[in-house]
Amino acid sequence: MRNRARRGRAFGKARISIREQHVNLNQLTVAELRRVLDKRETTACEVLQDVQSRIDTVEESVKAYVTLPRDISKAMAKEADAAIAAGNISQLTGVPLAVKDNMCTKGIRTTCSSKMLENFTPPYESTVTSRLLEQRYVLIGKTNLDEFAMGSSTENSAFHTTRNPWNLTCVPGGSSGGSAAAVAADECIAALGSDTGGSIRQPASLCGVVGLKPTYGLGSRYGLVAFASSLDQIGPITKNVTDAALMLQAIAGHDPLDSTSAPHDVPDYAAALGKDIKGLKVGIPKEYFIDGMHPEVEQSVRAAIATMESLGAIPVEVSLPHSEYAVAAYYILATSEASSNLARYDGVKYGFRAKGKDLIDMYMRTRAEGFGPEVKRRIMLGTYALSAGYYDAYYKKGQQIRTLIRQDFDQAFQQVDVIATPTSPGPAFAVGERSTDPLQMYLSDIFTISVNLAGIPAISIPCGFTSDGLPIGLQLLGKGFDEQTILRTAFAYEQSTAWHARKAKL
Ligand code: GLN
Repeated sequence: MRNRARRGRAFGKARISIREQHVNLNQLTVAELRRVLDKRETTACEVLQDVQSRIDTVEESVKAYVTLPRDISKAMAKEADAAIAAGNISQLTGVPLAVKDNMCTKGIRTTCSSKMLENFTPPYESTVTSRLLEQRYVLIGKTNLDEFAMGSSTENSAFHTTRNPWNLTCVPGGSSGGSAAAVAADECIAALGSDTGGSIRQPASLCGVVGLKPTYGLGSRYGLVAFASSLDQIGPITKNVTDAALMLQAIAGHDPLDSTSAPHDVPDYAAALGKDIKGLKVGIPKEYFIDGMHPEVEQSVRAAIATMESLGAIPVEVSLPHSEYAVAAYYILATSEASSNLARYDGVKYGFRAKGKDLIDMYMRTRAEGFGPEVKRRIMLGTYALSAGYYDAYYKKGQQIRTLIRQDFDQAFQQVDVIATPTSPGPAFAVGERSTDPLQMYLSDIFTISVNLAGIPAISIPCGFTSDGLPIGLQLLGKGFDEQTILRTAFAYEQSTAWHARKAKL
């Protein structure tokens, strides 16, 4: 510490550097770090050291990461410092970020937390991480997830379960549980997750951080290992709303390599922050305050809505009548797409291969040994739903419900600007509590899944704590491609509360 303080001073004259204030650089946000890096109060290499020493202290208990490519991180930090010295600076230059391990990173193992891809090193880079590379970010590591992003707790990882930094006996949520825990534990500055039915927002909520699922098509899925292609989207998990805007800015935008990314202009997200929310209409869907939800979650979310009202927002009751079918429709559609997407893991093209007496036997053993139980369950469900004779009863019906859900939102958004709901019906649950009951686990995403079916954006932000000290999340939903309004609302709320500033004691 003293050593580095001296190095910090070498950059300037009589100022008090961030070092001398004894700030742990790993605790800073993206925006704060940019300021101190640009003022030359520290270097990307020093920031990296602080993040890595935090990892050395807490990672054994949190287990957020699958891979920590320390030499690569170091080389990237050096490169970032050289770029900064040359005045070649972007928003994320020198910023240590964590990336969910289902986004391909060229030359760095990308496992999807599956035995199937345990030794898979992609020969190409995903579009989102290429965009970060252009800005010379520093990759800290690849984070743990439920195998192929299927789950809500990270317990489905083939490697280990990540722990919630607020209570190590609890899950961090999932499937982006590693990214959310890494952010909450200050083991990175910010992270990327992916969200098919809630996998950015639910873990963000359970870990007390901010998570944003962008509109379907706002960004590129190229190089994101596919789970359910019509639902998957990559988004940021951050310490505050400003960082969510900055990270979104870096990854959003049309990509010719992904035909489902929209040729849409990307607005300046940070510019939306700071505008007031007077007169903003906030929809409160009556179907989202259900029996059986945790009373402290309901209380906190209602209190958050009252806070928004005190800032000038106008609450309006809305109805989303088809919400009750969302989980059922999702588990038909997502598993159908997954059964098709995961057909590529056959032991031939890449990844794990088991020995077999002939080709068919090799296929069967590869898939039997390479996939975990939840992935197999979903492949079977999806294959069944798509099979001749059942297609109309299940898959087609699921698609019809999807349309109705989308229309519910279209109607609601004729009356309101944003919709406020809880992110998750309860706070973090104990490791093991739901792992033997898939249905219970599926219900963790009851408030997030409709958003993916409708393709709209949503953000989860901290809005309180239970009496046991577990974080509670507020979800704000917006119109398609209107990330600005949910960011503006989230920012206004965040400014008038201090939930996001609390830190887990580890
Ligand atoms: N928990 C949901 C599922 O298991 C959502 C996962 C996700 O968003 N990737 O499918």
